Amino acid sequence: MTLTKPLTPDLSSYTRRLQSIWDKQWFTNHGDQHDELEEALSYHLNVPYLSLFNNGTIALIVAIKSLRLSGEVITTPFTFAATPHVLTWNNIRPVFCDICDDDMTIDPNCIENLITPDTTGILAVHVYGNPCSVHQIQEIADRYGLKVIYDAAHAFGTSVDGKGIGRYGDISMFSFHATKLFHTAEGGCLTTNDPNLKKRIDFLCNFGIENEETVVMPGINGKMNELQAALGLEILPLLEDEIKKRKKIRELYCKYLSPHVGIVASRNEQYFIIRTKVRDLIYDALKTQGILARKYFYPLCSEFPCYSHYQSARNVPVAEKVSKEVLALPFYGDLEESTIKETCKIIIRFSTSTGD
Ligand SMILES: *Cc1c(COP(=O)(O)O)cnc(C)c1O
Repeated sequence: MTLTKPLTPDLSSYTRRLQSIWDKQWFTNHGDQHDELEEALSYHLNVPYLSLFNNGTIALIVAIKSLRLSGEVITTPFTFAATPHVLTWNNIRPVFCDICDDDMTIDPNCIENLITPDTTGILAVHVYGNPCSVHQIQEIADRYGLKVIYDAAHAFGTSVDGKGIGRYGDISMFSFHATKLFHTAEGGCLTTNDPNLKKRIDFLCNFGIENEETVVMPGINGKMNELQAALGLEILPLLEDEIKKRKKIRELYCKYLSPHVGIVASRNEQYFIIRTKVRDLIYDALKTQGILARKYFYPLCSEFPCYSHYQSARNVPVAEKVSKEVLALPFYGDLEESTIKETCKIIIRFSTSTGD
């Protein structure tokens, strides 16, 4: 059993969309499917401007480029490898900031100490869909003239103060990889409130091409193609039902596990995460039974050989502790109650009665 199962639409309805692509013989570059998905998603995510990409990582690389960041950017070690890597791909040095013990997002109280004359931005992550301290981060950014980018790869459907989470900071990135709640096999998007920034992002996404004879900036190829967009359009209507099912599964996990292990509260239905000091024992026991949980996020990005020599990598004690405790359990709509029970039985066997 795997951690997640991608939402898979009815093949015949996908084929109907493919037929219209075939009829037009238009496979990429702002086709009908692309434009329809872009509009549907900006409505769904409650954001004013949205640009689709071929994957979330290229989208983040473009986000950094579009804001002209350089020097150093403060980020979190408790994330997927892509987060610090996109800085490196922009010749920017990632500076690792510790996280909060409760929501596991970047600790706003640790950011200011890391700001130097070379700092140009903050790249924070809404870990497991839980929002960062967006107001406090913005306040610091405004005081020091820094840009704010959010890696919202986990945060599809999360809102803060009734507003789509993609409205916070200068730019947010959502990933549509097949492991994510909403997906297009591979894909992603950037959201922003600034129409001029959206224009720059769209240029950078397509080689900087303005028209046949004008190239206005050194862009890349980040375009989402029609096959991906069509898949997204078929998956979007399946979301509501999948979320309902995942909420039920979360309830079942909580019912069986809550007196025995720590359960990480969540604001959307991307992951189900437990925290326990006997994480590795549980992980191995589940694996023996063919249940593949995941140590998200372990090791920390600051422990990768490409980053571990940075001074900031040695000063993230909370992140080090948390990364040894977290475990993502299998979590998708079709998960059987019997499997959930079996998983929980194994977990409970290894957990002490003290709640950890
Ligand atoms: C999935 C993910 C990404 C990368 O997205 P891709 O679409 O796979 O390139 C980046 N950051 C986080 C936190 C992710 O979970």
